[in-house]
Amino acid sequence: MTKTCPNCHQPNLPAAAFCHNCAAPLAAAPTVGAPPNQQQWQPQGGPVVGQPTPPPSAGASQRAMIALGLAIAALFCCGPLTGIPAAIVGWMELDSIKKGQSSDSGKWMAMVGLWGGIAFTILHIVIYVVYVIFVMLAASNPYY
Ligand SMILES: [Zn+2]
Repeated sequence: MTKTCPNCHQPNLPAAAFCHNCAAPLAAAPTVGAPPNQQQWQPQGGPVVGQPTPPPSAGASQRAMIALGLAIAALFCCGPLTGIPAAIVGWMELDSIKKGQSSDSGKWMAMVGLWGGIAFTILHIVIYVVYVIFVMLAASNPYY
């Protein structure tokens, strides 16, 4: 059983509300239509409620915090192992802050990551070299 279009006489499915050939409304169907202005009740023009100002801690990007964390890890345990990634991540983060892609509030973390990462890497290398020199001196000195 089909519904014939009153406009172009194209047979349509009984459930069709519009002709699939010419898109004319198929009047016979008693569609339980939604009232047309059902969706219109929305407060218009109001300001977006909920986030008027971002909280101060939301600005620092995750990358800045990673750089800071890696630099701290470089200081306390890992030296170059995390110091070099800290410097790289910190540098990338500083770059994107400079371009305005990241929030300025993560800048100090990125700085610590960059310079701390470099400094702690050098520090660990220096400590290691000094340690090796001492061991070699001690080993070569029979009276020590
Ligand atoms: Zn039609």
